[in-house]
Order: sequence, then structure tokens, then C-alpha cells
Amino acid sequence: MDSMKRREFMQKAAATLVVTGAAVACGPGPAGEHGAPAVHAAKNVMWKLASSFPRGLDTIYGGAEALAQRVDAMTGGSFKIRCYPAGEIVPALAVLDAVQQETVQIGHTASYYYTGKNPVLAFDTAVPFGLTARQQAAWMAYGGGRELLQPVFADFGIISFSGGNTGAQMGGWFRREVGEVADLQGLKMRIPGLGGDVMSRLGATVQVLAGGDIYPALERGAIDATEWVGPYDDEKLGFHKVAKYYYYPGWWEPGPALSFYVNRKAWDSLPKIYQEVFVAATAEANLGMLANYDAKNPPAMARLRAAGVELRPFSDSILAAAYREAEALLGEQAAADAAYGKVYDAWRKFRAESHRWFATAEAAFAAFTFPRAAEP
Ligand code: CA
Repeated sequence: MDSMKRREFMQKAAATLVVTGAAVACGPGPAGEHGAPAVHAAKNVMWKLASSFPRGLDTIYGGAEALAQRVDAMTGGSFKIRCYPAGEIVPALAVLDAVQQETVQIGHTASYYYTGKNPVLAFDTAVPFGLTARQQAAWMAYGGGRELLQPVFADFGIISFSGGNTGAQMGGWFRREVGEVADLQGLKMRIPGLGGDVMSRLGATVQVLAGGDIYPALERGAIDATEWVGPYDDEKLGFHKVAKYYYYPGWWEPGPALSFYVNRKAWDSLPKIYQEVFVAATAEANLGMLANYDAKNPPAMARLRAAGVELRPFSDSILAAAYREAEALLGEQAAADAAYGKVYDAWRKFRAESHRWFATAEAAFAAFTFPRAAEP
């Protein structure tokens, strides 16, 4: 053995010792508990992930790919996750069903797509005039939200993990200006979920269209307005070419959270160490998506402005009417369903405390500094 080969051999031997030593020192498995050395061959696992999003939206679809890449890297390729964009295995809005039935082991989706199955799922994603991305993360991780919602997912045989956030969304694209509530009368708008319910109460005619169907509908005037996400994603879908006015904020989605769903039986069959790897990888993907949006939205907004897009804030009168109707709607749903009411009451208390806190240092800093420092 020449010196180079000997060095390679020693490096490989040292690596093997480290792996073996770690297994014994940190957590003897079933064999270790009986006194034998706990040395496990890496178990090969191949899972499928169905996303609710198209591959072209690299920020939101990319959250699933980020998870898969990290799980693969952290297990030395033993635990692989293959990601499928919306429609490839199951339709975009059937991801929950696919995970429940174990057609796939993982889903990447937004829980508010499934409020028809259980309205309380809205709180896993976003509620009108609800929580920002940071507040939602705080509620889920440390504010009791996860504990309230995990039993809801258990009814579907699913365990849920935070799966990214877009940050505060824009109000969307309008072919004509809307200054007052009266301007919403008869307005045909694509807007799903509770936001759509509130718009409907304000007089709009609400439609729900999948992402790919929005542009042609807006172009031919079948709809007058649409919301989607924010500058980076909206620019990709080209809405600025067929609607001039870009309204803000998307008061129905101040911090919409995505979710990774895992089939409970598949989860229970995973080696413990893979479960830990998965938890770490979802946490990384969760934070990474928001940072990705926060990095990509500002230059996208600059490009849209340069292309002649007219930015418009919703008027105080529209915001006040929407707030009033949103509060009434949530209250009605809570009164009609005790399980919903339990989550709503806890969420509402968290929101009040959180908004009181964020109304101090964060809000004062933003109100003073953002407009001043925004111009170069
Ligand atoms: Ca949206």
C-alpha cells in the first residue's frame, strides 16, 4: 500500500468509526438495548411528494425541492423524496386526499384549499386580517396553534409540518380602479377562500379559477380582477399585461403559510433518525421560502413599476368594510361549530396580544423608516 492509498484507507476507516461510534453513543436501537452493538445499515426509503403548485413557480414549488434535496444530502442518499408538480400525479387541489389515501407519502399544499372538508383548516394557512408570516410562525411553533390543529389533521391520518410562507400578499390586479365599496358591486373577481367570502359580502361576484386559467379569463374580460400572490409570482403569470392597476394589501392573506402533509402510517414506518432529518429539513425549507420571496419580490416590483403598472392602496373605506365583514364571518362560523370556535377563540386571543406587541416597535420603525429609506 503506497502512502496515498494508505491515507485514503485510514480516512475511510476513521469515517466508519465516527458513524459507528455516534450510533452507539447517541441512541442504542433495539439491538443496543439488548447489549449488542447498535450498528444499523442505512435503510433505503423512497417517498413521493405531490405539490399543489406548478414547477414554474420556483419559490413556492421550490420549497418541496429544497426539502427533498436536504433529506437526500443528510441521509447520504438513503432517504429520497421525488417531487411531482400540480397535476402530474393528482390535481392541485386534491393533495390532501392523495396523502390521506397514501397515493403519495407527502403533500405540499395550502390547507385553506380544503376548508370544504373542515373550515377550521383556514387557520393553518391564512385568515382575513389575521396573522403576518412572523406571527403565524410564532402561533404555530410556540403559541399553541400546532397543538390545536394537529388533531384536525389526525382525522385525515395526516401529520402536518410548516411548509413555507409567501409573506404579505398583494391585493391583486384590477382592470379598473376601485375607490369605494360601491365600486365592488358586480365586480367579477377571482379570489378563493374566506377572502372571496368577504368580497362577496361586499358585493363582488366571486370566482375560483386555477392558476393557469386566470390570465385568459382576465384578458378577455370574463373577470375584472384577480388576486394571486405578489410581484415575483404575478409577474411570471403576466397579469400586468392585461390589467393596469395593482392593489395592496392582500388583507385576506397577510402571511399565508404552506404545509407539508405526511401520511401518518408512512411517518410511523420511518426510522427515528429519518424522522429527525425530516423535521430539520422542513424547518429549513419553511424559513427558506419566506427569505426567497423577500429577496425576489422587491426587484420584481421594480420591474413591474418600470413596465407602467399603477400601484393603488385599497381605500380606508374598503378596508374598514372588509374588516367588519371578515370579523362577522369568522364570528358566525365560530357560533355554528364548537370545534371551530375553540380554535378561533385561542387564535383571536393570540392575534390580539400579537398585534398589540407588533403595533409598538415594529410598526413605529416601519412607519417612520420604510417611506424615507425606500428611495435611493
Ligand atoms: Ca393569494
